[in-house]
Amino acid sequence: MHNLTIAELVKGLQDKAFSSVELTQHFLARIAKLDANYNAVITVTADQALKAAVAADKRLAAGDAPALCGVPILHKDIFCTDGVRTSCGSKMLDNFIPPYNATVVENFEQAGAVVLGKTNMDEFAMGSSNETSFYGPVKNPWASDSVPGGSSGGSAAAVAARLAPGATATDTGGSIRQPAALCGITGLKPTYGRVSRWGMIAFASSLDQGGPMARTAEDCAILLNCMASYDDKDSTCIDREVPDYSATLNDGIKGLKIGVPREYFSEGLDPETEKAVRTALAEFEAQGAELVEISLPNTGLSVPAYYVIAPAEASANLTRFDGVRYGYRCENPSDLNDLYTRTRAEGFGDEVKRRILIGTYCLSAGYYDAYYGKAQQVRQLIQQDFEKAFQQVDVIMGPTTPSPAFKFGSKGDDPVAMYLEDIYTIATNLAGLPGMSVPCGMVDEKPVGLQIIGNYFDEARMLNTAHQFQQATDWHTLTPEGIA
Ligand code: GLN
Repeated sequence: MHNLTIAELVKGLQDKAFSSVELTQHFLARIAKLDANYNAVITVTADQALKAAVAADKRLAAGDAPALCGVPILHKDIFCTDGVRTSCGSKMLDNFIPPYNATVVENFEQAGAVVLGKTNMDEFAMGSSNETSFYGPVKNPWASDSVPGGSSGGSAAAVAARLAPGATATDTGGSIRQPAALCGITGLKPTYGRVSRWGMIAFASSLDQGGPMARTAEDCAILLNCMASYDDKDSTCIDREVPDYSATLNDGIKGLKIGVPREYFSEGLDPETEKAVRTALAEFEAQGAELVEISLPNTGLSVPAYYVIAPAEASANLTRFDGVRYGYRCENPSDLNDLYTRTRAEGFGDEVKRRILIGTYCLSAGYYDAYYGKAQQVRQLIQQDFEKAFQQVDVIMGPTTPSPAFKFGSKGDDPVAMYLEDIYTIATNLAGLPGMSVPCGMVDEKPVGLQIIGNYFDEARMLNTAHQFQQATDWHTLTPEGIA
């Protein structure tokens, strides 16, 4: 059952080939047996899942089943879940039990999905390797000595290891696409404003966006149908009709104009990864798409701009963790100042502290214009690069990451090397554009991802493009060793 896609599970449940209780028990048993190898799941909600599965089976029997009725999924531990601990990968929130659901969580509940638990992640979604999690790193199912990517590494590893058929994730600078690439699965970061951020713990509010992870583009379409909605509780959520992302998957892609940015194939890209991506591009050409060389000249400025803007916003967002209202509180504070300082010193990990320091510095009087103001100007330039490109092409393609999964510890002492991991993904967040990663090859027995960037609100076309690729190739069907 765990090798079936979400599309197949939905059909199997409706045809009564199996029940949601059977399915839920099966995945819970897999998590219990296998997750010790991966550390992908922080909290398992077995009792609640089984209760939801019983309810789903009743609805299926009565013939009033909503879209995802009875389908088990996992939520990244950044989405608030009513009555279930939401840690955000941090000691600071290790004891936090939200009294409400994030809108995304609510949408899945309305759709009848069964939540198996919450996935591991980099602390406050800051990282590219899952090494910053308070709960320890997640292991890549393809290579246990290598990272799964981050920050949504738990969701990606869980889907790759068939601990769940799909999972939610978030992407501030690449955290859906990079782990999807490194774990050999499909992940999509929607247009900024497409998916509600309400109840999604904030890292950098102008960049954060939730999205789905699954094995196929077809499944991502099903999950996005549920995740995307207008929500007046998120003032940046955009009131725009949600198309049926499944409806256009089978359209042909003849005549599709694919922009191939010169800057995404420059020095620093592993030659074998480049080969896999170029072979994928040739497959699109074979299907009648046209490759157009384009330039995104400000690509090189995206990492520096991001590492001013994201820490600046994070430093403001994270002031709320002060030991007063919720989360971790230090023992026996001597006064209010001691309460604040010790709570934050003890509750946050090193990478989070580094970001708070950088962010606070960039925003301080006297430096604001030189750093934050400048970074915002660069952001405009990056956005204009894409606007120009999309006058010429329908989608943009390139590698998701410079190389396949790297080994644990190999970039831990060098934050800049780690930050460069997101060189191809960060620009889309700065521009607010949607992007996805699709498995397109193997290098050293590790997966490689093809990135597809779309124009604003063009997720349907991206999913259609990815689906057509997956109809002609089988990279998305490969299974890590030991996962039968
Ligand atoms: N790796 C990037 C960072 O550390 C992006 C993380 C993310 O998208 N949440 O900030």
